Amino acid sequence: MRILCADIGGTSIKLGIVTEIGDFSGFTEVPTEGKKGGARVIENLISGLEAFEGYDAIGISTAGQVDREKGSIIYANDNIPGYTGTQVKDILEKRFKRPVEVENDVNCAALGEGWMGAGKGLSDYLCLTYGTGIGGAIILGGKLYRGIGGSAGEFGHMILHPGGRECSCGKKGCYEAYASARMLVEMAEAVNPEVTSGRELFKRIAEGDGRMKAVLDEWSREAATGLASLVHIFNPQALILGGGILEQDAAAASLEKNSRDLIMESFQNVRFLKAALGNKAGLFGAATLHIK
Ligand SMILES: [Zn+2]
Repeated sequence: MRILCADIGGTSIKLGIVTEIGDFSGFTEVPTEGKKGGARVIENLISGLEAFEGYDAIGISTAGQVDREKGSIIYANDNIPGYTGTQVKDILEKRFKRPVEVENDVNCAALGEGWMGAGKGLSDYLCLTYGTGIGGAIILGGKLYRGIGGSAGEFGHMILHPGGRECSCGKKGCYEAYASARMLVEMAEAVNPEVTSGRELFKRIAEGDGRMKAVLDEWSREAATGLASLVHIFNPQALILGGGILEQDAAAASLEKNSRDLIMESFQNVRFLKAALGNKAGLFGAATLHIK
């Protein structure tokens, strides 16, 4: 079986064909143009898909809250205006005459990591991606736990500092308002205005910049507070951590150490794993919608 997969992200739609044994081919990207609205995103998606032939089904990983059965968008934020309500499955099945499955992008990434990435062989794990915000997904007993609206795993909005910093969700004191990758860079910039990117921050840490090391440590203590709570709630085999900053050994090591300091002895068998599939995790996950 060959599944044509698409992952609709913030800036680009990634595409490729995944077979049922996990062979991958034909990686391409087209612009999402999310700000131009849901209709434009679907046009771009269709033109991306049209470039392929020789496949049996289509799997879509997309931003937004997804109705799995209908394959429609229950809710999408202002990153793609007018996307809410889009009948993605219906539109694509009419156009391409193949079965179509649709799932949220963070959930797809978790399914992909479980199938062919860091979670291979694991039954109980949590995925967290540290970027502009913090995305999360929950795999329990080998299955994605979706919650009643497909939105379970919004770890970024655990409130860890009541009355604290404003969050993008409109509430205050959320985990991601302290522990996202964006916050790490903002914290670094507040200490030294010359540091405006994660790359610059880690370069300086590698050169022995003590102030930047302290910023990383402060960030990782915030990030660890959330992770320790999650470990105590779910007692998972592993945490699969993704996002550019976690690819830096300094960040991954600091986060694991600070987390383990807060984790009870009987939960210490949890493993801290780096996400392994990078920007293809969502595509592999979209394929699993047809395979499993
Ligand atoms: Zn929030």
